[in-house]
Amino acid sequence: MSDQLKYRRILLKLSGEALMGDADYGIDPKVIGWLADEIIEMQRAGVQIGVVIGGGNIFRGAGLAAAGMDRVTGDHMGMLATVMNALAMQDAVEKRGGFARVMSAIQIHDVAEDFIRRRAIRHIEKGRIVLFAAGIGNPFFTTDSAAALRAIEISADLLLKATKVDGVYSADPAKVKDAERFEQLNYDQVIERKLAVMDTAAIALCRDHRMPLRIYDMTVPGNLMRIMRGEAVGTLVDA
Ligand code: UDP
Repeated sequence: MSDQLKYRRILLKLSGEALMGDADYGIDPKVIGWLADEIIEMQRAGVQIGVVIGGGNIFRGAGLAAAGMDRVTGDHMGMLATVMNALAMQDAVEKRGGFARVMSAIQIHDVAEDFIRRRAIRHIEKGRIVLFAAGIGNPFFTTDSAAALRAIEISADLLLKATKVDGVYSADPAKVKDAERFEQLNYDQVIERKLAVMDTAAIALCRDHRMPLRIYDMTVPGNLMRIMRGEAVGTLVDA
């Protein structure tokens, strides 16, 4: 690993919405390609990378349940949506000459490997970008919780959450003009102030296992590498 890098191993959380671009559904090939470029750049610089991809650009269990569907079935559909997104990212990474493996938390052998922790770590050590799909494999959870869990399981040095704003604010900066932007927060502040960072289960997992979390603006080219070099991009949440 280059001496310039602050982090050896990271877990990146991309929401499904991150893949949509300006559309309101599905995957924008330009956006996923661009994200793949940023991820490959980090891998080539020597960072070991796991990625958890959400599914909100296709289905969310809560939304399906609100429309009348059985919640568990809706969550299964949401998890399958994350598998589709992960397959698209695998394709985008490999089209660009990188190496990627989708590992799914639900068994779906014809399309993805099962998530087996030791095998995931082996892939990551070999420079493969591991795309963790299907969340944690259980309904009533989110891919934010999956991201916290996988980050802890693979002993990541940092959990990164990609968003479209430049950090965490006291209120939605698009709606509240004088919303305060935070450089750094601790886990309990995020939970107590109900800040829109990740869901509470994910933050509590990070807190209990001292997993630092950085929320950053994925729309700015080069931000991931800036963070890898130790620049204070976005908002850091830690103890
Ligand atoms: N999901 C689930 N268990 C998990 C992770 C996800 O049931 O461990 C389902 C849930 O319905 C969720 C959907 O998959 O709404 C898509 O994930 P998420 O909403 O976290 O995606 P994102 O908001 O990151 O795009």
